[in-house]
Amino acid sequence: MPTDILPLTRPEQSDSLIRCGAVCFVGAGPGDAGLLTLNALRAIEAAEVILHDRLVSDEVLALASPDATLIPVGKEGFGPSMPQDEINRLIVLYAYAGLRVVRLKGGDPAIFGRLDEEIAALELEGIAWSVVPGITAASAAVAAVGQSLTSRGRNASLRILTGHVMEGFAEQDWRALARSGEVAAIYMGKKAARFIQGRLMMHGADPATPVTLVANASRADQQVLASTLGTLAQDLAASDLTGPALTLYGIAPRAAAPALSDIRKQEVS
Ligand code: SAH
Repeated sequence: MPTDILPLTRPEQSDSLIRCGAVCFVGAGPGDAGLLTLNALRAIEAAEVILHDRLVSDEVLALASPDATLIPVGKEGFGPSMPQDEINRLIVLYAYAGLRVVRLKGGDPAIFGRLDEEIAALELEGIAWSVVPGITAASAAVAAVGQSLTSRGRNASLRILTGHVMEGFAEQDWRALARSGEVAAIYMGKKAARFIQGRLMMHGADPATPVTLVANASRADQQVLASTLGTLAQDLAASDLTGPALTLYGIAPRAAAPALSDIRKQEVS
């Protein structure tokens, strides 16, 4: 960490310094560098300092200038992570040093990305910032299984939720989600799978509801686990799913979907 070579005291503010040191929050997408936006690519190539999450793929980081300083500030599931205050401090520090700073976040910075906390830290210091959106994991996950996040006749709304918050497993409106036809993209849901399963079943969700996990969506090591609510915990335990996974509740991979609807048709006829 090269913080010691940078001025730790704040240099005199000037408009041009603030402009040069403006921070760009950039969405790195789910991993495949082909899923970066052109604006994200331009920002990454021009960056002098990139503070990145651990979820940002090596393939994306390789697009940075060889002269750029890359600083991992990442959070990784339940593992050790840099405290948010320290991340905020570093962003401010490099911006004041007059460097072009990119804060590179996995997926879209505006979804479970702590974007607001970091923006607040910059605003406190009067540092200009902007956001380049990215492709979020849920979009990559449905693409991997040939499905849509919304579908006419199936679901006209989508819930985006997290399985985990700072205090532990996240409480959600399980009663609402347990109603038939609901669809959710659950982030950080793998470790919470048994908890989520229990809560939904408790509120009367159909155990046959499809649940699909996509790990490492868009990456070479992408894995798909097609399961149902009733068998989720045991299917997950029996699988070799590793890495960040998106849980699609209420969505089955497309190949399995026609077979399921056939069965239902037979049942009612
Ligand atoms: N801002 C990110 C989400 C950060 S929260 C986004 O928009 O995608 C971290 C969670 O995102 C992980 O626990 C996992 O649930 C999900 N995730 C991120 N990248 C993923 C990927 N390539 N494949 C599957 N899930 C992913």
